Amino acid sequence: MVKIKNEGVLLVISSPSGTGKTTICKKLIEYDKNIHLSVSVTTRKKRKNEVEGKDYYFKTKKDFLNLKSENSFIEDAFVFENYYGTLKSEVLENLKNGIDVLIDIDWQGTRQITKAMKGKLIKIFLLPPSINELKKRLSKRNSDSIKEINFRMSRALQEIKHYDEYDYVLINDNLDKTFRDILKILETERLKLFRQTYLFDFVKKLNLI
Ligand code: 5GP
Repeated sequence: MVKIKNEGVLLVISSPSGTGKTTICKKLIEYDKNIHLSVSVTTRKKRKNEVEGKDYYFKTKKDFLNLKSENSFIEDAFVFENYYGTLKSEVLENLKNGIDVLIDIDWQGTRQITKAMKGKLIKIFLLPPSINELKKRLSKRNSDSIKEINFRMSRALQEIKHYDEYDYVLINDNLDKTFRDILKILETERLKLFRQTYLFDFVKKLNLI
């Protein structure tokens, strides 16, 4: 049996909120221990159910800007009066060690990472099955005001406009099917030649070079 050591797959999943992205990301990391979900840094306040180091690294603006000046981010953005950034340390070392990295960010962050990672990024976009379904999902939380729901809806529509910047676009009308489709994408991408770094030595040993 050949011992395989690949370079990890870098996977971005974007979608408007209310499309099941968070659920799918959680399912992926539970199912496959070789996938790391990148934890972003943010300056926004921690919400009640959030855990430091699991949902985000919560930092002051000063600490965030220090990290930025130290060139610690692959990408960063100012979203709704808060800073967000993807740490190089969450991504690069893992990929080198053969661990797949999943990043859950919006189209703006995806554009920056595409540039930084020069063709190595696999981009998946999830669409809701319909606008009515999206509205229903965005209105689920009883505590939300109409104004809040409309705001989320207009953000969601803005995000959807960028679907064609992605490699794979999936309509998430069945969570299990979407999950299986993403696994298929991941498994295929793992087989790409540039990620199978062990192959060069392997072929050498076959005396073909
Ligand atoms: P929330 O504060 O609700 O968790 O996220 C607000 C927005 O920030 C979402 O659209 C989310 O995709 C985006 N976001 C979260 N982490 C990052 C990140 O590391 N970089 C960028 N560019 N956006 C992020």
